[in-house]
Amino acid sequence: EKRSLSDKNVYDWSSEEEEPDGRARPVQVLLVKDDHTFELDEAALSRILLAEEVRDREVVAISVAGAFRKGKSFLMDFMLRYMYNHASETWLGDADAPLTGFSWRGGSERETTGIQIWSEVFLVDKPDGRKVAVLLMDTQGTFDSQSTLRDSATVFALSTMISSMQVYNISQNVQEDDLQHLQLFTEYGRLAMEETFLKPFQSMIFLVRDWSFPYEFPYGQEGGMKFLEKRLKISENQHEELQNVRKHIHSCFTNISCFLMPHPGLKVATNPLFDGRITEIDGDFLNNLKVLVPWLLSPRNIDVKEINGSKITCRGLVEYFKAYIKIYQG
Ligand code: GDP
Ligand code: MG
Repeated sequence: EKRSLSDKNVYDWSSEEEEPDGRARPVQVLLVKDDHTFELDEAALSRILLAEEVRDREVVAISVAGAFRKGKSFLMDFMLRYMYNHASETWLGDADAPLTGFSWRGGSERETTGIQIWSEVFLVDKPDGRKVAVLLMDTQGTFDSQSTLRDSATVFALSTMISSMQVYNISQNVQEDDLQHLQLFTEYGRLAMEETFLKPFQSMIFLVRDWSFPYEFPYGQEGGMKFLEKRLKISENQHEELQNVRKHIHSCFTNISCFLMPHPGLKVATNPLFDGRITEIDGDFLNNLKVLVPWLLSPRNIDVKEINGSKITCRGLVEYFKAYIKIYQG
């Protein structure tokens, strides 16, 4: 029996631990506690990734990472719609339907640094006939003090290590400190991994929200690539530090790309009663959303997670997750 996303509306989010009626929801699997220690909810992770239908499938692990209050959950809820509507032409769905999924947790959402995963792993048929398991992860942190910076770097490192695609969600522009943060957390990641001649990570997507210079670089992926090329360019007369950040980022990822998203409009950004319905979202945003989400998630575009050149199953991912977290706990 197939569940639909709207069923989740009526779900009472009060229980933190269980999924009493089996409905899908975000589950906190990695948590950074106030004393800066890490806690992995192995039971939850296993419940989700070792379920019989998925455990031996190759896994596509998609992480959206970034600071709080920058529209990650909002985007991920649209990603969920796409997944639940099986990538159909009309995946955006009912214009007046409230948006559900990661975001609206009855106001109880605490700003916890860590990783949440969607409790339902999606089975998707790739065009070549293989059935893969798609896992969605929400990675968030803060960068406002030394201690939170370190915590967040570790969490971001972990999510980069276990994902096949890291979507780095940033606001308005790619600033020098966004690049420095990326360098820091990929460095944390690389240190924890075995040395190989392969690049340690797969795809990195800079997702720039509220892009406001479409006349210089148009919205979307092509404008994004041109913009990013310029931002990541290494030149002789650059300060050595700036050059190093750029070399480092290039050396870490097999694919690097960028997508420029327009502002979603004032109702989305400022109205506390906004419930996510698409009739209240700017047309420019929706048009680009219709490009962005299939670009990230269509069956032909998703890539299976590889570590040291080997494809990983859901079961394998649990083992890597446990092994990596031990390194940081050590
Ligand atoms: P998260 O903490 O990164 O998951 O952010 P949320 O998805 O919960 O969104 C935080 C706030 O920003 C909400 O009020 C959203 O309606 C709003 N929001 C969502 N997407 C965007 C965007 O692209 N631009 C702006 N300016 N606001 C957004
Ligand atoms: Mg969120």
